[in-house]
Amino acid sequence: MSRSAHPAGPRHGDVLPEGHYFAPPADLNALDPKVWARTVDRTDEGSVTVGGLDVRALAEEFGTPAYVLDESDFRARCRAWRDAFGGEADVFYAGKAFLSRAVVRWLHEEGLNLDVCSGGELATALSAGMPAERIALHGNNKSIAEIERAVEAGVGRIVLDSFQEIVRVAHVAERLGKRQRVQIRVTVGVEAHTHEFIATAHEDQKFGIALAGGRAAEAVRRALKLDGLELVGIHSHIGSQIFDMAGFEVSARRVVQLLAEVRDEHGVELPEIDLGGGLGIAYTSDDDPREPQEIAVALSRIVTRECEAAGLAVPRISVEPGRAIVGPTAFTLYEVGTVKELDGLRTYISVDGGMSDNIRTALYDAEYSVALVSRSSDADPMLVRVVGKHCESGDIVVRDAFLPADVAPGDLIAVPATGAYCRSMASNYNHALRPPVVAVQDGAARAIVRRETEEDLMRLDVG
Ligand SMILES: *Cc1c(COP(=O)(O)O)cnc(C)c1O
Repeated sequence: MSRSAHPAGPRHGDVLPEGHYFAPPADLNALDPKVWARTVDRTDEGSVTVGGLDVRALAEEFGTPAYVLDESDFRARCRAWRDAFGGEADVFYAGKAFLSRAVVRWLHEEGLNLDVCSGGELATALSAGMPAERIALHGNNKSIAEIERAVEAGVGRIVLDSFQEIVRVAHVAERLGKRQRVQIRVTVGVEAHTHEFIATAHEDQKFGIALAGGRAAEAVRRALKLDGLELVGIHSHIGSQIFDMAGFEVSARRVVQLLAEVRDEHGVELPEIDLGGGLGIAYTSDDDPREPQEIAVALSRIVTRECEAAGLAVPRISVEPGRAIVGPTAFTLYEVGTVKELDGLRTYISVDGGMSDNIRTALYDAEYSVALVSRSSDADPMLVRVVGKHCESGDIVVRDAFLPADVAPGDLIAVPATGAYCRSMASNYNHALRPPVVAVQDGAARAIVRRETEEDLMRLDVG
């Protein structure tokens, strides 16, 4: 949804199709609990705290920019997902959203499983003690080395993404004298209402094997014949940042249909289905995400109903939320460097990070909100664009938002809901040093990923 008829974005005073959006919020000091981590609060004095710690103290200790992650919120979201299905489903956290060794330990302690999609993610998971049987390996082009490592380690499942991979994984498993549990990833032909680059179940894209034209049924036929494979289920992931349950409904129905066809053709009832991740979170107050409980009830009901209709035993369900667990738990803390007022347009606020710590705005037109956090202010709202310090005019962190008009160099501002796909997509563009991830809980803070140093940068430079 575009916010404005102006290609350059809305101007102050524009009447927008959505009407209300560009009215500044009634209270610029208020922190909408939908978009901020659970323990975030504004003190009477005006500054913001998280986990009982003042952001000014965090900036002092860890520097800016920094991702500040509310550990208790992360753990609570893990438990909410785990409990939502009443133990009747397996929750795999999608590690690509954000992964570190501390995160792996939290997941392990909270009873979640872990999706990885590269050798690097697998190595991180194993090195932090995640039991291999609780790891699933994904990816549309896993290397032989990645497959070998996963099979050798004994991962709980490998999700097969192509006909070549069916054979590749079978060969590796046979060579290692193992039988690897696998699922087949199918594309169900659903157009999820999300950005094209993060929608993954329509047919014209690189992931999975199409249900259409009997391709997926053929994949099942081949997998069932190979000694190295134990085919345990069908996988579907329809996209990311989805709010509407209709896509999941169609996806579940089509996957169950395939299970029924497999039973009819082979006399085998596959025991598992995985419905992927992709549940949306609130980046701004306009977004209304669903609670895990509500999603779990809806998914379980659809699968149960479809299985009853097909005369199948209800398979074990698994889901793979990434963003919905880690996204809301962190914000990026920046220091304002310059304030540039463009008459009649907007005010550009430059911060000490940018597209190197949050590429999502440039990559998918992602929307974010922002708040002044080192103090409160009674100044009037001003329309701002928060930009970074990189050598690109597309280096935008928050395209359109309001901040108090007295925001000045040295103030701290924070962009909420940056826990997912920000640190994990961070780059060293302009030789930026990637920011630390600081975990806070009960009045204590520690870096779980430290800030990069110039030495780190130059360590790879061997010329
Ligand atoms: C990316 C991905 C996920 C997680 O998506 P979120 O939007 O972060 O929930 C889950 N499963 C698969 C296969 C993925 O590729």
